[in-house]
Amino acid sequence: DIVLFNSFFNRIIDRFEMSKSDKVMFERLFPEASYYVEIDTDKVTQVIDNIISNAIKYSPDGGNIRFGFTAREDMLKVMISDDGMGIPKENVGRIFERFYRVDRARARSMGGTGLGLAIAREMIEAHGGKIWAESEEGHGTTVFFTLPLNLDDFDEAGEWE
Ligand code: ATP
Ligand code: MG
Repeated sequence: DIVLFNSFFNRIIDRFEMSKSDKVMFERLFPEASYYVEIDTDKVTQVIDNIISNAIKYSPDGGNIRFGFTAREDMLKVMISDDGMGIPKENVGRIFERFYRVDRARARSMGGTGLGLAIAREMIEAHGGKIWAESEEGHGTTVFFTLPLNLDDFDEAGEWE
């Protein structure tokens, strides 16, 4: 389906905002422009659900969760950033591996299988995008992913319609 990413992303965030704890604040850093992407909406919803669930799950003391996106050449770049426990530098590169979890003891108490981000990577790559993370232990994590923009909706005036 071709979807307006702005409202697609808003609807997913709204669903989490309704059930989140008061310790967590959501911040939407959305651009004015409208961006269209051609995606399997169920699959990309599953990707974003996992990233937001992780941001909440690994922020036990709360903090802000920031949502943003921007265009970078012919790609849409999405970011979801938290102020949670973060990931040690040497492990950041591994979180997209199947069953990989940073700390087994911590992971056991938190639930989950360690498959969420591996599935996310598979789905984003199937759409022609990339997914990666940046993190600072004790400070927070930012997950980024890209999706090809639907450039058919770029009008002659150079505006996104
Ligand atoms: P599942 O998603 O299958 O329920 P999970 O959340 O443990 O389980 P992934 O979503 O694949 O698995 O994440 C893999 C690991 O990466 C997590 O176990 C956690 O250690 C680390 N991780 C992921 N997101 C964050 C985050 N926002 N902050 C800190 N650590 C994270
Ligand atoms: Mg997860």
